[in-house]
Amino acid sequence: MDREAGARRTSRVQRQPDHRQLKALCGPNPWIEYHQEMSSTARRLPPARAVSGRSPLRAAGAAPEALRKPARAKSGPSGPPTGKLDPPSPRPRRDLAPARIADLLARLAVAQPNAECALHHRNAWELLVATILSAQCTDKRVNLVTPALFRTFPTPAAMAQASLPELEELVRTTGFFRAKSKSIQGAGKVIHEQFGGEVPRTLAELITVPGAARKTANVVLGVAYGLAEGVVVDTHVQRLSRRLGLTRHGEPKKIERDLMRIIPRERWIAFSHELILHGRSICVARKPRCAACPLETTCWAPDKTWRSH
Ligand code: SF4
Repeated sequence: MDREAGARRTSRVQRQPDHRQLKALCGPNPWIEYHQEMSSTARRLPPARAVSGRSPLRAAGAAPEALRKPARAKSGPSGPPTGKLDPPSPRPRRDLAPARIADLLARLAVAQPNAECALHHRNAWELLVATILSAQCTDKRVNLVTPALFRTFPTPAAMAQASLPELEELVRTTGFFRAKSKSIQGAGKVIHEQFGGEVPRTLAELITVPGAARKTANVVLGVAYGLAEGVVVDTHVQRLSRRLGLTRHGEPKKIERDLMRIIPRERWIAFSHELILHGRSICVARKPRCAACPLETTCWAPDKTWRSH
């Protein structure tokens, strides 16, 4: 048995072409030439101990070219130096394939059929205020605070006239209450004085309102006016977009840009609501419930808790 295995091994070894055959087939191999030159130089050397403190090759007067290692080809970690840079290979990303995106959107729509904005509001102004208050706070908490706030200051003009201590008291439990009070009072002032009391309908105008950055503007335009100017990127959209391989970025602006490229515009508004709801109910931050997730077959997240593929 052992002899047979030995014979097999030997025949395998014998089948390997030697350096001369390879050279005849493929031309000179710079790595082999380099090592051969090094070996022949080393053979001419005095014993290593006799030239302490210096490289034996250098001490033997080896040419500088012989001492220098050939430059490694940039195209790969190993392989002979070619002297040329290979062009970068454009590899299509399978996670962004249109068929996969379409499948994902369809599954998401089925999984979260009632997805809508969770902030209670009756008009664009109330939605704007609620969205400003929702920063670093849960929608549930904001919904507890806004009824009293809107009863006391129902319009932008009334909010503009509100005293800061009174506002702070009303929104205290949403966190960052001083900054938020200033923002909603400032928003009331700007909307009352510059936009005639109407929340503007363009992104460019909305982002001039105090407290309203791009995310808030996208929420107001999408939910209150049905205008798809961008994709809302909150903490859930941020996390799920990365898990689902829709973006590799961590910055909301770059994530939104990536999503706007791959999601059809008519799905921008619904997509963010669905993803937010999915992030709250199934794809939670710490321990996603992958076994119950309808997107599982199209998800390659490394932190999945269960996988079918
Ligand atoms: S399979 Fe898991 S990680 Fe992927 S989207 Fe579903 S819950 Fe999230």
